[in-house]
Amino acid sequence: MRRITEVDLDLLAVAYKLAGAEGYAVLETIIKERECTDEELSDAFKVKPNVIRQIIYNLERNDLVTFRKTIDLKTNWVTFYWRANRNYFKNYVYYKRAKILERNRKRYEYEKSHGFFTCPNKCTRITFDDAYDAGFRCPICNEVLSMEDNSKLVEFLGNVLSNALKPSPEHRPVSRSKRH
Ligand SMILES: [Zn+2]
Repeated sequence: MRRITEVDLDLLAVAYKLAGAEGYAVLETIIKERECTDEELSDAFKVKPNVIRQIIYNLERNDLVTFRKTIDLKTNWVTFYWRANRNYFKNYVYYKRAKILERNRKRYEYEKSHGFFTCPNKCTRITFDDAYDAGFRCPICNEVLSMEDNSKLVEFLGNVLSNALKPSPEHRPVSRSKRH
């Protein structure tokens, strides 16, 4: 039996949250045994294979397990060997990073394609269109708005973006396998 590591404990915590106590118990067994078939799990938990399959499906849908499969050439019988997805948190980091990147890109595009006006009293910062509608006066204190030079900000955001887009090996997406 394998010893349960820190990563396994984190994985089990996620399993508990996403797949309930059953998901937790099944994943714990898979982790300890390194690899389990549906049949082994159904024997270990003394439940019908379709019950185990449902739980595994739930784990797999949440990306918590991966599998390899073998096919018996005589019977065409397919056996799945389940393992804990130890890349789960790498995927998670990549996903979070992709979201941040997308937000930065939107901000960059927005800043690049708009002119801005600000109030000298720093109440507001609005686009050209909104400033035009407001008669180029501050909607809060009525001071005359002045045009802002945001080229430094655009340059800064552009640099952040191009640095973030440089490939870094530990942030590569890990391909997600699909059952069947
Ligand atoms: Zn103002």
